Amino acid sequence: MFTCWECGRQMEEKNTEFTHKTKGESVTFKTKGLVCKCGYKTVARSQMNTYNITMADAYRKKHNLLTTKEILGFRHSLDMSQQQFADLLGVHVQTIKRWEHGVIQEKAMDKLVRLTMKEVREKSDFDLWNEKYLDFRELSHCNVLEGYYAIIPAA
Ligand SMILES: [Zn+2]
Repeated sequence: MFTCWECGRQMEEKNTEFTHKTKGESVTFKTKGLVCKCGYKTVARSQMNTYNITMADAYRKKHNLLTTKEILGFRHSLDMSQQQFADLLGVHVQTIKRWEHGVIQEKAMDKLVRLTMKEVREKSDFDLWNEKYLDFRELSHCNVLEGYYAIIPAA
């Protein structure tokens, strides 16, 4: 299926150790790749996403940054889309997509996510629910009946 570029033999798909230079630093990690008996290793296109995330997470762990799993876990715990999560943090949705695909976040951004996590944990579920579904600019279009607001999810 996959032929070695070095020697022409068939390559085997398996978990193996890679060393990758990222942000001026070598990180070593294990992920699924293609390995040849001659020692040549590479990654198939279908393995690239996992490779990038595993590599980024190895770097992040070394530098005490949140991993892709942690960032994703936080977003999922809020049951938010990437766009909603981006709005909560005040960043572009593309930034969220990059982090989740293994682009390493800046330290300042990492701090922003952690501070937001802390803030969110201190808030009530109702406040969070409001933040997610209510666009307060739309309130003027709602019926207000004796202190009762008709809550309409923002489009
Ligand atoms: Zn080979």
